[in-house]
Amino acid sequence: MADVPHELSAQIGDGGEDATGDDVALDPGEPQFDLVEPGRVSWREVQPDTIKRRAMGKMRAVQVAQGGGALELVEREMPEPRQGEVRVRVEACGVCHSDSLTVEGQWPGLSFPRIPGHEIAGIIDAVGTGVVGWSAGQRVGVGWFGGHCGRCEPCRRGWLIDCRNLRIPGISYDGGYADAMVAPADALAAMPDQLSAVDAAPLLCAGVTTFNALRHSGAMPGDVVAVLGIGGLGHLGVQFANKLGFCTVAIARGSDKEALSRNLGAHHFIDSATEDVAARLNRLGGARAVLATVTSAKAMTPVIEGLAVRGRLIVVGVDAEPIEVSPLQLIGASRSVVGHAAGASIDSQDTLGFSALSGVRPMIETMPLSRAPEAYARMMHAEARFRMVLTMAEQH
Ligand SMILES: [Zn+2]
Ligand SMILES: [Zn+2]
Repeated sequence: MADVPHELSAQIGDGGEDATGDDVALDPGEPQFDLVEPGRVSWREVQPDTIKRRAMGKMRAVQVAQGGGALELVEREMPEPRQGEVRVRVEACGVCHSDSLTVEGQWPGLSFPRIPGHEIAGIIDAVGTGVVGWSAGQRVGVGWFGGHCGRCEPCRRGWLIDCRNLRIPGISYDGGYADAMVAPADALAAMPDQLSAVDAAPLLCAGVTTFNALRHSGAMPGDVVAVLGIGGLGHLGVQFANKLGFCTVAIARGSDKEALSRNLGAHHFIDSATEDVAARLNRLGGARAVLATVTSAKAMTPVIEGLAVRGRLIVVGVDAEPIEVSPLQLIGASRSVVGHAAGASIDSQDTLGFSALSGVRPMIETMPLSRAPEAYARMMHAEARFRMVLTMAEQH
C-alpha cells in the first residue's frame, strides 16, 4: 500500500459567507444536515444552520483545490441537474483507494477544484429534463461507472464499462464527498430498501468489482475459487464467492486473517507467508478462478501454477509492475490471465440486489463528512477495517 505522499490537512472552518453576511460555521462536531426527506426526520433534529444553508441553495463539500493538495471542507452552491441528469442527496460515500487519483492529481487532464468520491449512496432530490424512469425520492447509488458516451466502439458493442469516454464521479465531475452531487441518469443504480446507505456505498465500487468479476469468471457452483488478498475488495470477494456457491479459498499474508476469512465464508485459508500457495491450490484440485485483489503483481505471480486446467487469474488489484507468467504455464493447461473493470450501472444494481438477497455486507468504519481527511488518511495507510464510509448526517 502506498504511503501518503502529501500531508493531509483539514482546512475546516473556511465556511465562506452566506448572503446575509454571517459566517456559516462548519463545525465538524455539530449535526448540520438532514439527509432524508423532511417527512422522515424530526425537525427538532435539523440544525438551524442546516435549514439556512439549504434555503440559501448551499451545501457542504470536501474538495481538492489542486493536485497533491489537501482535502478541504468548503461551502458550495447546490448543483442543479441539467438535461439527462439527476441530483442525488448523498447519504453516504465510501472512500476508495482510487480517490487518490483525484487527491494526488494523478488522473490525466483532471480539472480543479474537484470533489472526490465514487461510492455514492443517496436519494434523488431533483430531476433534470429528459430523464425517464427515475424520480425524486428514489434511493440510488452511483459508482465508478459515471456515464458512457454511447458512440465509441466499445459502447456500440454494449461494453459500457469499457467506454473510451467513460465518465467517473470524482474525476470527470464532482463526486460524493458532499451533501449532494449531480450524475447522468445512465450512471444510476437502484438501491433496495433492505440495504442501508452506509452498507450500499462500498458495494458500488469494491462490491461490483468483485461480484461482477466472480460471476463472469466461468467458475460453476462447487468449483474451487480463490480470493487473493483480504482487504477492502477481498473481504467482499470471499463473501460473494461463498454465496455464489464456490468452494471458497482465502489467500492472505499471515495467519491473523484466517479467523476473519472463515467468518466471511472461506472454506479454506492459505497463509501465503508460510505456505506454498500453488501446491495448496493444487491439492484442492486447482483453482478454476483466482480473484487477485492485492495491489502487488509480485503476489499474483505464484498463484498461476495453482490454476486448474482452463483456470483464470482475474486481476482487479492495481499495480504498474508486471505479473510474471510463461507461455508454457498458459498454453499447457489453457490458462488465462485477464483484467476486469468494475461494471456498468446495471452491474452495480445487480450487486446491490444480490447483496440484499444473500446477506453480503461490507465491514465498514464510518466518519462524518467533516472528517474526510482523516478517513482518507486511514484508507491510504491501510488502517481501515475494511472500508471507510463518510456519512453526511454528522451524528457521530
Ligand atoms: Zn473505487
Ligand atoms: Zn463510449
